[in-house]
Amino acid sequence: MTLSYRAAILHAPKTPLVVETVTAAELSGDNVLVRIKAAGLCHTDLEVIEGSLRYPMPIVLGHEAAGVVEAVGPEARGVGVGDHVVLSWNPHCGHCFYCDRDLPILCETYLTNGPKAIGFDGAHHAHRADGGELKQLMFLGAFGEYAIVAAEQAVPVPKALPFDRGCLLGCGVMTGVGAALNIASIGHGDAVMVIGCGAVGLSAVQGARLAGAAAIVAVDLDDKKLDLAEAVGATMRVNAGREDPVAVARKIGKSGRGVDVVLEAAGNPAGFRASIEAVRPGGEVIWLGKTDVEHDVNFRWGALMGEKRIRRSSYGGTRPARDFPLLAQAYLDGRLKLDELITRHIALDQINEGFAALKAGEAIRSVVMF
Ligand SMILES: [Zn+2]
Ligand SMILES: [Zn+2]
Repeated sequence: MTLSYRAAILHAPKTPLVVETVTAAELSGDNVLVRIKAAGLCHTDLEVIEGSLRYPMPIVLGHEAAGVVEAVGPEARGVGVGDHVVLSWNPHCGHCFYCDRDLPILCETYLTNGPKAIGFDGAHHAHRADGGELKQLMFLGAFGEYAIVAAEQAVPVPKALPFDRGCLLGCGVMTGVGAALNIASIGHGDAVMVIGCGAVGLSAVQGARLAGAAAIVAVDLDDKKLDLAEAVGATMRVNAGREDPVAVARKIGKSGRGVDVVLEAAGNPAGFRASIEAVRPGGEVIWLGKTDVEHDVNFRWGALMGEKRIRRSSYGGTRPARDFPLLAQAYLDGRLKLDELITRHIALDQINEGFAALKAGEAIRSVVMF
């Protein structure tokens, strides 16, 4: 039976998304059909719309979603019809050079097929009314009523987890919490600075709290975002428009050393520079933010001295099957705050307004409800 559904499609950079009726391909192999219930609007989608991140088109964006498994392919394992799932954008083959080195984020099949915006199996999983192939962002394409994804991308979570909260785990929350818990080595009593308090930064604040940091300094230019940072666990706030975060960091660290760990989630050159200046010698900087892939970022060479460690993380060292259920339970237990990250719920037809709000910095997360 042919399945038709509505999806928001980007035809060219810097143009509005268009909601169209599209058709799903036949379910095969280890793919599963997911009925999307909620999908968050993330900065990475915005980067594709703005053209700073390049993908083939027409494409269905959306890579932070939760839903219900509606059907499974003949080889699908680990997930069944009716399961509530949070979707991962990092499928991996399990047996390539990088998978063997426990780096699924660098899996060769993932890196080969990702830029093509096709399924992990190398196939297109939806087409337009005229029969033309449709691309899907990050093996997902979640701004539609349905998506066909690899079984390992659909991670079962407790049914008590609301879909609008659950979707956030798939990208922004996992990226931030994971960076603090899986990538950084935050010790009990450490001082941590988080630069940029969007969804990823607010999640990094929470990861630092869960890791046992004693001082968590939130940095942003927006007082409302700093309010949220305090609401989710920051112990200090710095509005970088009025106060120099580096000077604050050096006052917190003993003898002006700087903070132990900096998690950068602002994605601008000033944030990257400040992150290196603010960390103490021997400390650790984790970069989560992104700027245009063709842009240069400059540093003061002296800021790098002192055996500082700098690491880029794109998905927080995530192992979705392990981490999504843990984060879901942390929310249900009250240890992870997700309600605070949702600015508004919108319909699919309001998606362009949602991205305008994200671009204007007015929204942490707008969540499309289906
Ligand atoms: Zn994202
Ligand atoms: Zn691999």
